[in-house]
Amino acid sequence: MFPTHDEIDLWYEKGQSLIWHPFTQMKEWEDEKPTIIVSGEGATLCDIEGNRYLDATSSIWVNIHGHRHKSINQAMKKQLDRIAHSTLLGLTNLPAIELAEQLIQIAPKGDVKHKESGEAEKLTKVFYSDNGSTAVEIALKIAFSYWQHLGGEYKRKKKFVSFSNAYHGDTIGSVSVGGIDLFHAAYGPLLFDTINISSPTCYRCPIGLNYPSCKLACVDEAEKVLKKHHRRLAGLIIEPLIQAAAGMLCAPPGYLRKIRALCTKYEILMIVDEVATGFGRTGKMFASEHEGLVPDLMAISKGLTGGYLPLAATLTRQKIYDAFLGDYAEFKTFFHGHSYTGNPLGCAAAIANLKVFKKEKTLEKLKEKIIYVKKSLMSWRRWKHVGDIRQVGLMIAIELVADKKTKLSYPLEMRVGGAVCQEAKSRGVLLRPLGNVIAIVPPLSITLDELEKIITVVGAAIRKVTAKK
Ligand code: PMP
Repeated sequence: MFPTHDEIDLWYEKGQSLIWHPFTQMKEWEDEKPTIIVSGEGATLCDIEGNRYLDATSSIWVNIHGHRHKSINQAMKKQLDRIAHSTLLGLTNLPAIELAEQLIQIAPKGDVKHKESGEAEKLTKVFYSDNGSTAVEIALKIAFSYWQHLGGEYKRKKKFVSFSNAYHGDTIGSVSVGGIDLFHAAYGPLLFDTINISSPTCYRCPIGLNYPSCKLACVDEAEKVLKKHHRRLAGLIIEPLIQAAAGMLCAPPGYLRKIRALCTKYEILMIVDEVATGFGRTGKMFASEHEGLVPDLMAISKGLTGGYLPLAATLTRQKIYDAFLGDYAEFKTFFHGHSYTGNPLGCAAAIANLKVFKKEKTLEKLKEKIIYVKKSLMSWRRWKHVGDIRQVGLMIAIELVADKKTKLSYPLEMRVGGAVCQEAKSRGVLLRPLGNVIAIVPPLSITLDELEKIITVVGAAIRKVTAKK
């Protein structure tokens, strides 16, 4: 039954006044009628007035197989009939065990064999939490403590390497390793210091070179930093292949793998933040697989439950886990945990998510969609205000610029990206801008017809807005 006009007006009033929304200027929010989502199916969201929108952000990069997927719904209902939550402090539960086993199975295996055993390197332990930021915090704390537990000279290894333009979440630890001034600079006095490396982005190369003639000079720059500081470095944290929140900034092919080799060479733990890139977004289950590497620690969340429930995990290698073992009185215990750690309902959703990947051959079917997008956007490169188009799998970004030749950005205050998204919304496609970058991150289950609609709408919106500005 649809609500009456009076009921809808009341929801609008409450929707404007009660909730403080993330990354939102609330003064503006209070002045506008909010879009109130009431249901979803597949890649479509439906609002309280019955308007339908294509969810071209996957509800902020979380949804994988579409909304209200039958198998995931069923798995969750089945789990609800057993238990919704019990703690992992002193207890364990079936979905958490089963999911851990599967995550270890699908984690990046790499193509480098262990020196002594000859076995492929792998991640063998799973530490659960609730969101991407906590998965990152946990990785940082584990990396820090690891060297402290090893003792001796290693106790000096207390610092982290982070990248400019990085985004790893909004808690204080994850902001400390972040590098987006607009979001992070205000909290400077609260943050711990890191050693910075320039973002390995090609469109505006920080060292002014061009790929491939640069011969990955950015790796040499990184090595200088690691060589100088390695005795003090506990870990390096990186978004693999693509710095997502900064505007889908792409690293050159080979960069990630070379950074892996440098981390090994200089005894620095490599933390790969696969929160945005994990679960098929880049065309493979994890972005690390594109370059055949195994990180020392890997943070995952977002797509883990198919976009159904908040759940996260930090995966690590055996040698790191082993460093925390000892008699209780040695106090090597990893003193960290959240109330909902290993939540059975979330884990049941995640298991169902992985099952759908297999059953629906999600990754195989993705290839056609990735190529379709690539081809469809090709001609946009010639458009006057399209500076760059970046795509890794189904993570797609169109960067709009005021001047194509000089790559001059539109001033952020002009909110060109916001205007394009507003225009697209009026045509039935929901997007969220990253500054002047229009990001398209649809559910992996999106159909070619739906992709065609998204591309047509975004193209029309870009043309309309940039013609005016
Ligand atoms: N890491 C990356 C790479 C992300 O993109 C995000 C979220 N966009 C996070 C961490 C933080 O995740 P969450 O919002 O779930 O805390």
